[in-house]
Amino acid sequence: MVLALKQIFDVVGESQSIDYPLVISDCEIGGLPVFEKPIPVKGRVYNRAGIVMLEVSCEVTMHLCCDRCLTVFDRSQTLPVSHILVTELHSDADTDDEYVVVEEDMTLDLDELLRADILLSLPSKILCKEDCKGLCSVCGGNRNEKECHCEEKSIDPRLQILGDLLK
Ligand SMILES: [Zn+2]
Ligand SMILES: [Zn+2]
Repeated sequence: MVLALKQIFDVVGESQSIDYPLVISDCEIGGLPVFEKPIPVKGRVYNRAGIVMLEVSCEVTMHLCCDRCLTVFDRSQTLPVSHILVTELHSDADTDDEYVVVEEDMTLDLDELLRADILLSLPSKILCKEDCKGLCSVCGGNRNEKECHCEEKSIDPRLQILGDLLK
């Protein structure tokens, strides 16, 4: 979605609501499309006392694969996004992420901006749950689902030999 912002910049108190589905179809992690469903984006862009603000929230549902146990799961989160929109930066101090410079023709590609914000919010380590036990390195079983006893058996190979001799 491209926002036409001339009116907003020109008229103090002007406001425009935003409500649309954002599609991010080209983001994959491990061959899995992360954003299967369109992301509902709701909020508004407004001019308050000459300052143009963008405030939206994105209902992000991510389709992810756990780094430890390889289970595929969905995670939903509401990501609030807010930026101050400017036609030009006035000082180096403004080069913050908070400030977004609009195009010369007073438009803003909202898809591109939100896409960057959403991708930045992705976790660097993906776990299905905080205390995921992962896969057993011996039998490959998912240790969240079934407790196996491989580790006990493979603690000490010398004990294993002893055990075999006693058979
Ligand atoms: Zn897991
Ligand atoms: Zn096992």
